[in-house]
Amino acid sequence: MSSPISDATDSAVYKTLLESTKAIPWKIDWATMKFAYIGPQIEALLGWTPESWVSVEDWATRMHPEDRDWVVNFCVSQSQSGVDHEADYRALTKDGDYVWIRDVVHVARNEQGEVEALIGFMFDISERKKTEQELIKLQKELETLSYQDGLTGVANRRMLDSILDVEWLNARRNRQPLSVLLIDIDYFKQYNDRYGHLQGDDCLRSIAQTLDTVASRPRDFLARFGGEEFMLVLPETDGKAAHAVADRCRQAILKLQIPHAASDASQLVSISVGVASIIPDHECELAEFIESADRKLYQAKLEGRDRVVA
Ligand code: GH3
Ligand code: MG
Ligand code: MG
Repeated sequence: MSSPISDATDSAVYKTLLESTKAIPWKIDWATMKFAYIGPQIEALLGWTPESWVSVEDWATRMHPEDRDWVVNFCVSQSQSGVDHEADYRALTKDGDYVWIRDVVHVARNEQGEVEALIGFMFDISERKKTEQELIKLQKELETLSYQDGLTGVANRRMLDSILDVEWLNARRNRQPLSVLLIDIDYFKQYNDRYGHLQGDDCLRSIAQTLDTVASRPRDFLARFGGEEFMLVLPETDGKAAHAVADRCRQAILKLQIPHAASDASQLVSISVGVASIIPDHECELAEFIESADRKLYQAKLEGRDRVVA
């Protein structure tokens, strides 16, 4: 049973409750599309006074332009169909910043079932969005890391395998030549033994950086193949052009003039390169193609190192 006194008390209690919660309550009259109420907390959050929220236009205008169209269209259509809904968007503050808001909307109807008002709560979700964005950033970093060789920063074997698959199919479809260079540092075990493993790591990094600058076309792709071996993938490059790139690689490494007193091939760090080129058809296997580069590399080693075999 309710008395006028307890009604008044109740509404005071509700008002206190509504205005002390962090969520910001509001009500829009459906017929006029004007705010019947908005909690005073809105001013603390966005800087706009409650009185300045007159109609839905004020709500739409104080929204990030990238969010506005879809949020307004979504909320209007949901409300017209009488469906409760929620939307996340960036609300404009009086200072010109944006705050992420979740607006949860209830469609209130009269006894005839007609839409009478929209009643909702705005929640400040900027902290949650920040966490979400940080997680997305971390995820991206992780993806990069999982495709990147930790020591040299060039692509790792996993990335290489994906690129090779793509370029192989591409070359076969477009009947274009594809070349790969398999590059191996000469007497690198001796280098480590002589200069230490850390200096060996430095040497690997310099070589990776240098090889990366030799391959200049946009789809040329360098990866660490394993240990002290690198692979350069050269799409749309025939055997002759690939041979020329391999020579440039060999010379660029010698030009670094990294001393290697324990090398029998040269007194400087040098590389051997196996070159393989192909226009793949349906008979050819990618693995077989890579093996052919490996055989050329082996031959370069047998022939004395510091050389290219194509
Ligand atoms: P070859 O001229 O026949 O290629 O002789 P090599 O000594 O270079 O070849 P081998 O395969 O015997 O040795 C490769 C060496 O590369 C041994 C290994 O310790 C070294 N190596 C592989 N990965 C790394 C690395 O990440 N850092 C360092 N410092 N050395 C590495
Ligand atoms: Mg090797
Ligand atoms: Mg080697």
